[in-house]
Amino acid sequence: VKQDSRNSYCFFTPAMQEHSARTLALASALKLALARNELHLVYQPQIALEDGRVVGAEALLRWHSAQWGAVSPAEFIPIAESGGLIVPIGEWVLRTAMAQLVAWRAQGLPPLRIAVNLSAVQFNQVELPALVSRVLQETGARADELELELTEAATMKNPQAAAAQLQRLGELGVRLAIDDFGTGHSSLSYLKRFFLHALKIDQSFVRDIETDADDQAITGAIVDLARSLGLATVAEGVESAEQLAFLRARGCTHVQGYYFSRPLPPEQFHTFVQRSERE
Ligand code: C2E
Ligand code: CA
Ligand code: CA
Ligand code: CA
Repeated sequence: VKQDSRNSYCFFTPAMQEHSARTLALASALKLALARNELHLVYQPQIALEDGRVVGAEALLRWHSAQWGAVSPAEFIPIAESGGLIVPIGEWVLRTAMAQLVAWRAQGLPPLRIAVNLSAVQFNQVELPALVSRVLQETGARADELELELTEAATMKNPQAAAAQLQRLGELGVRLAIDDFGTGHSSLSYLKRFFLHALKIDQSFVRDIETDADDQAITGAIVDLARSLGLATVAEGVESAEQLAFLRARGCTHVQGYYFSRPLPPEQFHTFVQRSERE
């Protein structure tokens, strides 16, 4: 039973049953997705505001299920997390992204770095630093070509353990960023103890930044906080020249969003970088 807003009880509605049936079906389809080559990565350019250059990309996972068509990561990542599948899938993401990076390097693209999303389940695995180091070795990618993005929630469940894990990852030489910063429950006192390189400003603060005084204040506070801790700031979800102008004026260091580019398949990302180098 589920309690509704009027404080009375109701049973699961047909729509909810459909939802859970779909979740179960997706979970079993997802188990086969890796073996069936249904997963692939797209790459969204990240731009340094200092010189306008492409510093790299965030790798974002896509699933084209033979059975279900395109399924959004917002839907299937939580399913993968609850079933434990996120661990092999996450390893595949890391390996694929690093192999792609090395391929781009071999093709003569300028130095780039790829940001990879880590779910809390992955971040909390004791084997993670060893896995990262193995993948770097096997693909030939350098540690400083990899940035790991983790959410506040992943670090705040057990801040002491998180600090130790960040330290181990940081010592490998990879960059570390907190994703969706400002939407979770970070204790600011932990930030200075965390081995970190960047804070990503959540797109919910960027969306109305030209008009919303609260979003302006929050974004400004995050940028100032990051700067005083020696961290970069990556604003995500930048869709307009006006948003960009505000972020630039406020001192944000990096941006990413549809204004520059949607997430791109590898060949198109390659073209995007080449074209932006010529400008
Ligand atoms: P996220 O890490 O916060 O990624 C940013 C999301 O914003 C992406 O959605 C991206 O496509 C979208 N986006 C980028 N620029 C814009 C913009 O200008 N406007 C708007 N409205 N949206 C923009 P996507 O690709 O659907 O991914 C959703 C979430 O799924 C990600 O949020 C991340 O939490 C998760 N995810 C994606 N790939 C992976 C992965 O490989 N591993 C893990 N653990 N999670 C992933
Ligand atoms: Ca992210
Ligand atoms: Ca984000
Ligand atoms: Ca998000």
